[in-house]
Amino acid sequence: MSKVELDECATKTIIEPFRIRSVEPIRFTDMGERRQLLSDAGYNPFLLKAGDVLIDLLTDSGTGAMSADQWSGMVASDESYAGSSSYYRLEEAVHDITGFKHLIPTHQGRAAENILFTTIAGEGDVVPNNTHFDTTRAHVEHAGAEARDMIIKEGKKPSSRHPFKGNMDIEQLEQTIDEVGRERIPVIMLTVTNNSGGGQPVSMANVKAVSEIAHRHDIPLFIDACRFAENAWFIKQREEGYADKSPKEIAGELFSYADGCTMSAKKDGMANIGGFLALNSDELAKECRNLEILTEGFPTYGGMAGYDMEAVARGLYEALNEDYLRYRVRSIAYLGDQLRNAGVPIVEPTGGHAVYIDAKKMLPHIPPLQYPAWAFNNALYLLGGIRGVEIGSVMFGRQPDGSEKPANMELVRLAFPRRVYTQSHVDYLSEIIIAAYQQRDKLSGYEIVDSPEVLRHFSAELQPLD
Ligand SMILES: *Cc1c(COP(=O)(O)O)cnc(C)c1O
Repeated sequence: MSKVELDECATKTIIEPFRIRSVEPIRFTDMGERRQLLSDAGYNPFLLKAGDVLIDLLTDSGTGAMSADQWSGMVASDESYAGSSSYYRLEEAVHDITGFKHLIPTHQGRAAENILFTTIAGEGDVVPNNTHFDTTRAHVEHAGAEARDMIIKEGKKPSSRHPFKGNMDIEQLEQTIDEVGRERIPVIMLTVTNNSGGGQPVSMANVKAVSEIAHRHDIPLFIDACRFAENAWFIKQREEGYADKSPKEIAGELFSYADGCTMSAKKDGMANIGGFLALNSDELAKECRNLEILTEGFPTYGGMAGYDMEAVARGLYEALNEDYLRYRVRSIAYLGDQLRNAGVPIVEPTGGHAVYIDAKKMLPHIPPLQYPAWAFNNALYLLGGIRGVEIGSVMFGRQPDGSEKPANMELVRLAFPRRVYTQSHVDYLSEIIIAAYQQRDKLSGYEIVDSPEVLRHFSAELQPLD
């Protein structure tokens, strides 16, 4: 018998850890068509029909592809009003992964925020967070409290390559507690990963330090856990002592330092809808459930169908799969590498769910109040049918008194839906982005011709300036 002696091949290519069994065609358009479509949409990509977009990177929220296992769970779900087995399956998964005692299911993340902040926060209170996500801030303010962001200073600099740019500034947290007093701080929040700050992770050391301060002052710590699995992967890659631990073990340790979490299952729940609040306190859980019944539904479904709970129960584990996380984070870094090599300025290092292009740095000839990031995002649609989102002065520039103030950063966020696009899609993206970058001198700014008073980016109409 002949013996074949081969050397093992250490491959460089990280392939998609799935094969595709159901496909959704995407529609190609030409540039003339796209020019017309964008003009008809008031130069606002939010107003485009999704079918007119070739590669849609507007958000990673609820846009992912589900697995065959999730779909099979959905078909076999229990739709009982009270005490369905699908609820108990989700409860078991959440308990196993987070360790929290009580599960309060909700229709999505913001509903969990609404229940939490309505119950614990009030007029005159202050809620510290590394960076509040916009719905979190809105719910803190809706409860009459003040939302304070306290990210480390590296987190505010697009070019800083700190490994944990999502960390909370510990000194600022201590000062805030000294200044306002613990009785006016109903909860401290940590957002993992820090969505508004570029999808940047929080280190385990930082979570531990924040937890220690919170508990020394008898303040509960809650995690905004939307991207807990991506955060666990970054800890595994970047923080000493975690390389040999599984993402699930790392996530479990992270949650063990907290008293509860809010979750949007549309992110690392790998589902199209859903969310939950999970917590340890019996007393607080009771109060939250009373509000849940009022606003979401009976506590064993709270805004989700039985089949949604099945999808989330499975999705939470799939998000923690190492092959998946390696592919997920690598796809983002892969686009980042190609753009960096071509000179396109991006937020460094790339985060867990999106690449952020720094339009302020790229387009110095367009002043912030002529919306450089908006201009670049529209150029990506015109050139290649790509839809990202502006995170800049259209989104944040309007002040409560109606005046305008430039935002801190002018970014185009390209958020990746989970398990949806492949490497050739990413190669196409980088070709288009680099082509737009090479023609950057030809881009002009925009003016807003019609806009609502709040959240204007969703529906404003704009016009390109000459
Ligand atoms: C998406 C998100 C939320 C809100 O969740 P929804 O499901 O959209 O209501 C809260 N916090 C963070 C960090 C998020 O990314």
